[in-house]
Amino acid sequence: MNTNTHANEIDAFLRQLFPIPRSLTGDGNRDTLRILQEIIPLEIIEYPSGTPVYDWTIPDEWIIHDAYIKKPNGERVIDYSECNLHAVGYSMPINKTMVFDDLAPRLHMLESNPEAIPYRTTYYSRDWGFCVTKKQYEELESFSDPLEVCIDSEFDTNGAMVIGELQIPGETDKEFLVSTYVCHPSMANDNLSGILTAAFLARDLLQNGTPRCSWRFIFVPETIGAIAYLYHNETEMKGIRGGLVVTTCGGRGPLGFKESYLGNDLIDRAIRQAFKDRSIEPICYPFAPDGSDERQYSSPGFRIPMASITRDKYYEYSQYHTSLDNLEFVTGKQIKESLNMYRDVVNILDQNLFYCSTTPYGEPQLGKRNLYPSTGGAINQQGAAVSTNHGELDAITWLLFLADGEHDLLAISERSGLRFSVLQQVAGRLVEAGLVESVSARLTV
Ligand code: ZN
Repeated sequence: MNTNTHANEIDAFLRQLFPIPRSLTGDGNRDTLRILQEIIPLEIIEYPSGTPVYDWTIPDEWIIHDAYIKKPNGERVIDYSECNLHAVGYSMPINKTMVFDDLAPRLHMLESNPEAIPYRTTYYSRDWGFCVTKKQYEELESFSDPLEVCIDSEFDTNGAMVIGELQIPGETDKEFLVSTYVCHPSMANDNLSGILTAAFLARDLLQNGTPRCSWRFIFVPETIGAIAYLYHNETEMKGIRGGLVVTTCGGRGPLGFKESYLGNDLIDRAIRQAFKDRSIEPICYPFAPDGSDERQYSSPGFRIPMASITRDKYYEYSQYHTSLDNLEFVTGKQIKESLNMYRDVVNILDQNLFYCSTTPYGEPQLGKRNLYPSTGGAINQQGAAVSTNHGELDAITWLLFLADGEHDLLAISERSGLRFSVLQQVAGRLVEAGLVESVSARLTV
C-alpha cells in the first residue's frame, strides 16, 4: 500500500487543528470533523443530547464563549482565548469576585511541571475550575484584593454529540475498525497525532483501490463517543474482526505497541510482523483495562481485539495532558513514521490470504516457468546467503511449501522469517504462473 502523504501536509493540518477547542461536544468538534473532510469523505453524524446509550447518556452540549481571571486592576491574568486548557472542560458558568483563598481550591497546577498548564475535565459532575501554570498560580496568590472570576459557558440540552464515520467497503465483508478520539482540546500528541494518522491512513486506503476487507474509520469523543457508536451500530460492531485505536503516535520517542486483550490475536501478530519487517523493536505494553477506547470495543458484549501503535504513549511522557504537548513536541515527520507503521499493519490485515497449491504432489518445476535461476550450481553455492537474504527464491519455496490452505500469508511470514511484502509480491507472481490460488473464502478467521 502506497502513501502520498507528505510530512509538510500533516504539519499544515496540525497547525490548522491545534487551536480548535474540542470537548465531548461543541462546535470545536464540528469544525474539526469538517476540516478532516478535506482529507477524506467523512460522514458527520449527530447523537442528540440526553439520549441513553447503554449505561450512559449523551451529555448536554457544552458551549464556552470566554473564561478569565482578572487581577484587581482589571487585567487578565488567566485568559481562555490564549489557551483553551485554562478552563476545566465542561465547567459550569460562574461570574463573581472572590479572594484568592476561596479561589485556590478551584485552581489546578503542576508542582512537578511548573511551566505546564494541566488538562482537566469535569464531564459528569457539574463543577468548574481553572488550570494554570505554577507562575500564574503564584501571581494570583500575590493579590490580597478580590479577583474577578468568569467562565462564560452554557449547556444546551437540545444539543448533540458529533462523530465522524467513513466506511470503506471491501471485496469481502470481513471488517476491521480504526478508531480515534476527537475530544481533546489543544494538545498535539494526545490526540491530534491520532486524528491525523487515522485520516491519512483512510486516505491511503481509498487511493489504493478496493481493499479486500472492509474498513470502518470512526472519529469519536473518547469513552462516551465509542459507547454511543457501539450502541447505534451494535449488530455490525459485533461482526468486526479486530481493530486499531489510533492515539498518541506523534511524539519524539520510540515507537510502542499496546497489545490487544488477547495478546496474540491476528491484530497483535500483524503489528509484530510490521515492526519486524522494518527491523524496529517497539516498546511493548501488555494489555491492561485502562488506556483508551479498547475498553469499550473489547468489553464483554463486543470483545473486539483492539491494539495501538504509539509514539510517546499516553501516561508515558512528561508533557502528557498539559499545554507542553504542543507543536514543538509533535511534528508531521514524526507522525508520518507512525503512519507508515499503521499502513503496513493495515496492508498485512487486508492482504492476509490463504493459498492452495495447484500442483501439490511434489514440487512444481520452477525452471520451466522462469521462476528459478537457470544456473543451478550458483543456487547451491549461495544457498546459505539466500536463506538469510530474504531472497525471492526463498519466498517462492516457502510459499509453495505452505500453500496448503492451512497457512495464511502472515503465518508463512512468521514461519519463514521473510518480510510480508516480499511474500505478498511473490504470491502475486505464483498466482499469475498458475501455481497457487488464493482461497478467498478462507480469509483468516
Ligand atoms: Zn488523553
